[in-house]
Amino acid sequence: MSIAQNLQNIQANLPHEVTLVAVSKTKPVSDLMEAYNAGQRIFGENKIQEMVDKWEQMPKDIKWHMIGHVQTNKVKYMAPFVNLIHGVDSLKLLKEINKQAIKNNRTIDCLLQLHIAEEETKFGLDENELDEILHFVQNNKEGMKNVRIVGLMGMATFTDNQDQIKKEFTLLKTIFDKINALDSVNCQLNVLSMGMSGDYPLAIECGSTMVRIGSSIFGGR
Ligand SMILES: *Cc1c(COP(=O)(O)O)cnc(C)c1O
Repeated sequence: MSIAQNLQNIQANLPHEVTLVAVSKTKPVSDLMEAYNAGQRIFGENKIQEMVDKWEQMPKDIKWHMIGHVQTNKVKYMAPFVNLIHGVDSLKLLKEINKQAIKNNRTIDCLLQLHIAEEETKFGLDENELDEILHFVQNNKEGMKNVRIVGLMGMATFTDNQDQIKKEFTLLKTIFDKINALDSVNCQLNVLSMGMSGDYPLAIECGSTMVRIGSSIFGGR
């Protein structure tokens, strides 16, 4: 099936409040253009240099999401245009994003990535680290005003065990709701980024508002 057909099938089954990020990492610009011509405007990449290259070549009404792990020293390359950074997993990184956003006279939207999977290898904050960052931002509003924390992101364990995946997504949703109810940090989180090709229907059941789908649109990598 074509990229346009894949997109259409996925969009047809997404609740309207769920945003689709088309994960185009490793795919050529011609594939992305096929998705663009089918109406897709949000693309997710996991390497900064690759995202910059594609941004340069493609129409400027695209919203580019950085979904991968971000090295602090590379933030400057995407700061002029990135629309949402999903994988913020340290205060040091958030401070650098703020600094580069100031240089570009922008405010950059960010998601804090939580570690919800069983695997050791997946990046992300634990709940204590999350609290620390939220409180830091709360107490340094002036200094941090070029970043906006708009939600949370997480990746479930790579497993066939649906109960396990559901447990992890539910945990993330619980933390999301808890933060929104907190009086001590008055931030309004709107975005809950969870779900990929293999698990997005379950993620949506568990409260996802943003799914990151690659191989089901563009084919295997
Ligand atoms: C690659 C990737 C995806 C998309 O994975 P698919 O299984 O191809 O849908 C989603 N999120 C992150 C963080 C990724 O790196």
